[in-house]
Amino acid sequence: MVLPIIRYPAQVLRAKCRPVPAVTDRHRILAADMIETMRAAHGVGLAAPQVGVDEQLAVIDVSHDPECVSYLRVNGADTDLAGFMPIVFFNPRLDLGKQRELGEEGCLSIPELRAKVNRPEAIKVTYQTLDGETVTLETDGLLARAFQHEIDHLNGVLFIDRVSAAAKVGVMRRLKWLVQEWAEEDAKAAAKKA
Ligand SMILES: [Zn+2]
Repeated sequence: MVLPIIRYPAQVLRAKCRPVPAVTDRHRILAADMIETMRAAHGVGLAAPQVGVDEQLAVIDVSHDPECVSYLRVNGADTDLAGFMPIVFFNPRLDLGKQRELGEEGCLSIPELRAKVNRPEAIKVTYQTLDGETVTLETDGLLARAFQHEIDHLNGVLFIDRVSAAAKVGVMRRLKWLVQEWAEEDAKAAAKKA
């Protein structure tokens, strides 16, 4: 089922998400719905708070671009990117590489806004799967960026918080304008329903 995606500035997007002690059927259904929602919106990732759930769960799929990483190691073994997607992960722990790179990001909760964000280019992440298995994954490129973006969501952090001070004024001005536009759209939709 495609779920409604919560838009900025909703409070749940600032929640510090709770760890998931045990994966239940509710989480399995939620994860399947989140994958469907991400795909319907043509996103590469979606975190639980974006569908109103403050738990440490997110999904990622970068299989549209098989060249977007230079390596992918899962539990130490070289792994085919497309065959490993989509990724559903719980309770992530992130180790960041030292080298940083600037890359453009967007967010399904902040549609129509894109900005450059400086982030470490390589990561190591340990998480639990839907089967309760613990996985250690090492990668770079778009997948490393997607993990950092989604794990930020689980900590109540948005990519707009990470743009450079120089770009921030312009980004926040545009965002203010977008929020107003969304509110007008929502009001129109509500009036139609009534
Ligand atoms: Zn996002």
